[in-house]
Amino acid sequence: MPLELFNTLSGKIEPLFASDGTALRMYCCGPTVYDYGHIGNFRTFLHVDVLRRAIRMFGITPRHVMNITDVDDKIIRNAAAAQLPINTYTARYEKAFFEDMQALGCETPEAIARATENIDGMVSLIERLAQQDIAYKVEDGSWYFRIARFPDYGKLSGKDLEGIQDGARIDSDEYEKDSARDFALWKATKPGETSWDTPLGTGRPGWHIECSAMAMKYLGDSFDLHAGGEDLMFPHHENEIAQSEAATHVPFARHWFHVRFLLVEGKKMSKSEGNFYTLRDLLLKGHRASAIRFLLLSVPYRHQLNFTFDGLTESTNAIERLRTFHQRILTGKWPTLAVANNNDPVLSNLIAQGDTNFTASLANDLNTAEARAAIFDVIRAVNTAADRNTLTQPDADATLALLAKFDTIFAVLNDTDAELTKAALAWAEAEGRMADVSTEVLEKFGANSLTDAAIDALVADRTKAKAQRNFARADAIRNELLEKGILIEDSKEGVRWKRK
Ligand code: AMP
Ligand code: ZN
Repeated sequence: MPLELFNTLSGKIEPLFASDGTALRMYCCGPTVYDYGHIGNFRTFLHVDVLRRAIRMFGITPRHVMNITDVDDKIIRNAAAAQLPINTYTARYEKAFFEDMQALGCETPEAIARATENIDGMVSLIERLAQQDIAYKVEDGSWYFRIARFPDYGKLSGKDLEGIQDGARIDSDEYEKDSARDFALWKATKPGETSWDTPLGTGRPGWHIECSAMAMKYLGDSFDLHAGGEDLMFPHHENEIAQSEAATHVPFARHWFHVRFLLVEGKKMSKSEGNFYTLRDLLLKGHRASAIRFLLLSVPYRHQLNFTFDGLTESTNAIERLRTFHQRILTGKWPTLAVANNNDPVLSNLIAQGDTNFTASLANDLNTAEARAAIFDVIRAVNTAADRNTLTQPDADATLALLAKFDTIFAVLNDTDAELTKAALAWAEAEGRMADVSTEVLEKFGANSLTDAAIDALVADRTKAKAQRNFARADAIRNELLEKGILIEDSKEGVRWKRK
């Protein structure tokens, strides 16, 4: 069964394969590091993570490149306002981005490419276009791409280019969605702005040329798949195709993968609506990273996901069920062969069918909702068998193997939630963001989460445990206190404690 995926470029579902016979070369537009990542961004990155994991599950090696846009209009504006060099400004957000990706269980791509470290490649690509007169320089020293010279312009997004005015230009990185205009490849900069001295003049690259140059540097002129959120289809990806194919005369990416936008409580996420959430906002409110991952993956990538707090609670409960079930099957003692008269002959078939459904759902354009449902069907049936004492060890083993397979894609079984919340809390303390921390998180994980009386009681418990030579329990209490910032000192006079 091949892994098949919708291709925005052809409008069809097509099989995925590594065209060089070695690795599936894929490029995903990464973040613009001018702020903390929000759950919309992570919906896209999580589906790209599932895609690369699925590629591997289907026996293909991914070679995944992601860029970091660390120079653009917004970054230059914000860094100037903060009176910081742009790389100091972007470094904190880049670091936070990778921490967040890890918290959400995303694998690290095989290569990360920073725009500011790849300026040479962008300059040579613009020079190649200039040699064909497709790139042209204007009075202020900026360079533009002449879209009238690229007849295929619009083939990805299906834009109708009737009435396009040759030479009508747009110079901002953030531009209206409906205009097909010549776009900036290289921007002349004003004195004092971040710039590079190059044969093209002094300036900085436009956003679109970054991705063309970096994708081709790492993956070759022609590669297998290009990914990003649906907002990038036009103009960003359209422009990437134009710049690359006009220079190389070979197809840029064969397959285009676009993730639909996320809504929050039924509306477009926006700061003014008060429904804008970064991952960190949610962790500080006490929501678990695993539940956020699971919810963001619960709806297939081509459908809109409406993120709600009820949905998040449901997702938290689903993870609880999964983990409890996993522990039950893992630690239970199941008879090697069921007693003949209460054996459940259909169960093994059901587990095998669940396995087939799981794989088939992913193969079918990454249907994460059906893949997840296939697993919960198996959980229900196996739980019932375990309750009735009809679960055998071979069926338990088959179930565990299926859960392991499920987790190579969904990656939620291993519980690191408490650690991640604590890390978010430590970050909030360091950044002066304690106002964003919920009382629930403070009570559970904060340094002042225990009253003196509660600490005294725990210390007394520990002393009792030691007297009973139950050292494991005594150590567990000491560690619990230590995690909450309370130190215990044993002395001749007895036990003392203090807050760190
Ligand atoms: P940016 O950092 O703005 O360049 O965005 C990084 C990635 O997140 C891009 O692939 C965007 O398309 C994607 N993205 C931004 N907002 C959303 C959203 N609300 N839902 C899904 N993906 C989004
Ligand atoms: Zn890009």
